[in-house]
Amino acid sequence: MTPLARLILAQIDADGPMTLADYMALSLMHPKHGYYATRDPFGAAGDFTTAPEISQMFGELLGLSLAQAWLDQGAPAPFALAELGPGRGTLMADILRATRGVPGFHAAMQLHLVETSPTLRQVQAKTLKGHAPQWHSATEDLPDLPLFLVANEFFDALPIRQAQRSGDSWRERMVTRDGDRLIPALSAPTPLPMLAQRLDDTAEGDIVEFSPAATRIAAHVGTQIATRGGAALIVDYGDWRALGDTFQALRAHATADPFADPGGADLTAHVDFEALALAAAPARHTRLTAQGVFLERLGIAQRAQKLADALTGGAQQAHLAAHRRLTHPSEMGTLFKVMGLYPEGAAPPPGLLG
Ligand code: SAH
Repeated sequence: MTPLARLILAQIDADGPMTLADYMALSLMHPKHGYYATRDPFGAAGDFTTAPEISQMFGELLGLSLAQAWLDQGAPAPFALAELGPGRGTLMADILRATRGVPGFHAAMQLHLVETSPTLRQVQAKTLKGHAPQWHSATEDLPDLPLFLVANEFFDALPIRQAQRSGDSWRERMVTRDGDRLIPALSAPTPLPMLAQRLDDTAEGDIVEFSPAATRIAAHVGTQIATRGGAALIVDYGDWRALGDTFQALRAHATADPFADPGGADLTAHVDFEALALAAAPARHTRLTAQGVFLERLGIAQRAQKLADALTGGAQQAHLAAHRRLTHPSEMGTLFKVMGLYPEGAAPPPGLLG
């Protein structure tokens, strides 16, 4: 048994079954044994690959969308350019390179990264050498400035809770022990006030997921953008209004039992974009848009052609495959969605519709 599994069993013995959210938080972010705290999980050798690791075009186009939103709002100075969960720092490096030529953007910018993993902070420091980012552990610690923010595959890593409809109450899916194994088990029915509106669109036995951490972070970002100006681009897999069990573990690019090895596999859930949009009010939210459509509107085809012209052979083939992977409906193009946040009276960030 791993030290983290032992620690979770001891906590269950002391306090009783724990919520999925507590289980996810310990598995991913425990300072010593958590998944993100102990490794760099990206790339072919890791457990998963993300859009910025697939092609530089992803970050370039997101950067240009944010920079245009900044220009549209009168080029406020100073402003915070921020990223939630920057991984290896690749997305931010591509954003910074693509926006170098935007007059005044870098001069007015303060770079802020929200990251809890010490291991990944070190990787980010290397990738972003020369840009002097400031790190924060919580979104609430971002400076009180106009906020231009990206979050790619961040919200899916935040702890979720799951509840199963039972009459007008809910049975919560908890984590408990069966001998030395961790297993899911349903609680007794309890009313959950935060799910009141879901009594309208669910039937007996339906599973609903909700993330108190995601709601808190979206509320903070939304308030900041509504009061100080700015824009957010939130990219993730998920949909408008969560329904059903999407909790999963990923290991070596395949799904795994999420209760088998806490800390040893990535745990994620699909993002409920409606919950983020509601929490982010009074900031306005754009329509939820497929990643492929968003990137095409921003001109990925032309950018891909330009890069392809400079390449030959295997490198050119790999580049064309990466373009397809980001945009094609059978790859990441429709599973991944983009939602923008922006202030009342401003234009939505380019690539998205209000
Ligand atoms: N955006 C990157 C990485 C996505 S993985 C990319 O697209 O490649 C998720 C990232 O969020 C990791 O950097 C992880 O350490 C960070 N993270 C997860 N939960 C977090 C939390 N609660 N607060 C801050 N960062 C978190």
